[in-house]
Amino acid sequence: MPSAEERRRARTILGRLKKRYPDAGTALEYRDPWQLLVATVLSAQTTDANVNRVTPGLFARWPLPEDLAEGSPEEVEAMIYSTGYYRQKARAIIALSADLVERFEGEVPADLDALTSLRGVGRKTASVVLAEAFGRPAIAVDTHVGRLARRLSLSAAHDPAKVEADLRALYPVREWAGISMRFILFGREVCLARRPRCESCPLADRCPYPGRGS
Ligand code: SF4
Repeated sequence: MPSAEERRRARTILGRLKKRYPDAGTALEYRDPWQLLVATVLSAQTTDANVNRVTPGLFARWPLPEDLAEGSPEEVEAMIYSTGYYRQKARAIIALSADLVERFEGEVPADLDALTSLRGVGRKTASVVLAEAFGRPAIAVDTHVGRLARRLSLSAAHDPAKVEADLRALYPVREWAGISMRFILFGREVCLARRPRCESCPLADRCPYPGRGS
């Protein structure tokens, strides 16, 4: 269990990120939880902007999970080609849509275990959907969130599930949904993987690694 002092420090860090990013949310464009689920799967190893370029065509061609579940893999691949890893991604979004139709009547469940039971949906993707589409308490740990948590000594873990558990222990439940997107934005703009901008970092006085970025 983190100490009161560790919790206070964690609150200060998140408070500053909230000030910097008052309305942090995903840049992925979507109209419903299923669209966000598909867009999040497509966003692996590419930018949100790239995904936003292909999803309007994708959802126009296959507007519902039951449509995409029946989609031809080759046609889906061609549509999402520019997002990279298009074969695996096409298989994943068809499979998860088929699972949704078969087991959840085409409705995305607002539950972590149910979401991660869908083929191709991991804990990170499920947490993004829970936090963003449903406003449920969930912390998605991607590479930025993990890096920031370690640099800021909020976690020492490298396993995303452990980082998530450490962050859950530090923050009250009402804050969980607002953590990931702010960490991600900060990780892209300031606490960069290779050369963190420690000299202009608003968290430098709370960071054990200013200038080291380890
Ligand atoms: S001081 Fe440097 S390492 Fe620490 S959070 Fe800021 S940018 Fe990242």
